[in-house]
Amino acid sequence: MGEFDLIRRYFTRAPTKTHPPQVELGIGDDCALLLPTPGMQWAVSSDMLVEGRHFFAGTDPARLGHKALAVNLSDLAACGARPVGFTLALALPKADEAWLAEFSQGLLALADTHACPLVGGDTTQGPLNLCITVWGEIPPGQALLRSGARPGDDLFVSGTLGDARLALEALQGRTSLPPTLLQATRQRLEQPTPRIALGLALRGVASAALDVSDGLLGDLGHILHASGVGACVDTSVTIKLIAASALPESAACHFNPDFLHQCTLAGGDDYELLFTAPAAARAAVAAAARASGTPVTRIGGIEAEPGIRLINAQGQPVVHRYASFDHFA
Ligand code: ADP
Ligand code: MG
Repeated sequence: MGEFDLIRRYFTRAPTKTHPPQVELGIGDDCALLLPTPGMQWAVSSDMLVEGRHFFAGTDPARLGHKALAVNLSDLAACGARPVGFTLALALPKADEAWLAEFSQGLLALADTHACPLVGGDTTQGPLNLCITVWGEIPPGQALLRSGARPGDDLFVSGTLGDARLALEALQGRTSLPPTLLQATRQRLEQPTPRIALGLALRGVASAALDVSDGLLGDLGHILHASGVGACVDTSVTIKLIAASALPESAACHFNPDFLHQCTLAGGDDYELLFTAPAAARAAVAAAARASGTPVTRIGGIEAEPGIRLINAQGQPVVHRYASFDHFA
């Protein structure tokens, strides 16, 4: 099978009913043609997944397809943008048809869920590497940025934290999990849910936002740095956000709290939204959570003094040594 057969067979599809009107021309010519809705702004982001770095060799191809797009959609969610389309630059060791069929199914199923079609890309032979660029739209001035947090704002996070890290620890043999718990946490590692609906609902409500990809504290640091503020985080709340803690099987695992803090505070691969909002907007945040069907938890607050202060349930300081993920550290 040649390069062009491969593209035609696995990546080219007739426009569907949910095809956004902004996509005038998709795969097949030298460029895709996108027509922005008059008055709207593009939000554009790229994320690359490298075998051996971001995922294990032999990862289920359908899950890999899902994750490659999910981590990109997560960036649109973090800005409050509505997805329009994406491109895929793909390096493949060989044209393995069974692999391609599953990969494209996982990829395009998530694309359909968000009405975000694949509009172009590049295909080359080489070590397995997936680079996606997504386009989204947003009314000018409404993007959720990292720089808008103010002292007195509440700090919130969506969904659960630390599950992907727990699965990674188990898959790399550093801890052991009962099968059902491994399955549930592995799903969070391999098939994260981009919080698009929540991002849209938070337009005009959140003062700052980003998606948590490298660990809560490290990513919170980006908001604090960009906004010139500090924060207090209640670790008695964040430790309960690991979904594993709610499953009956985990009682038998006897995780030590320090390990659970490591997973929830610095786990990585969560793809949840971390955002701030003025205290007066609490009801609006709750309404956004309800409207988008996304759980949201208040985990702390923004303060004028720079730095992150961790506290326990009694409000006493917790000494922290939880480092986030950094490719070059
Ligand atoms: P060119 O050589 O002009 O850059 P290519 O021959 O690489 O174009 O690609 C032909 C068409 O297939 C283009 O429309 C391109 O966007 C699309 N394409 C190539 N690889 C992919 C891919 N992995 N996913 C989606 N579209 C792709
Ligand atoms: Mg060309």
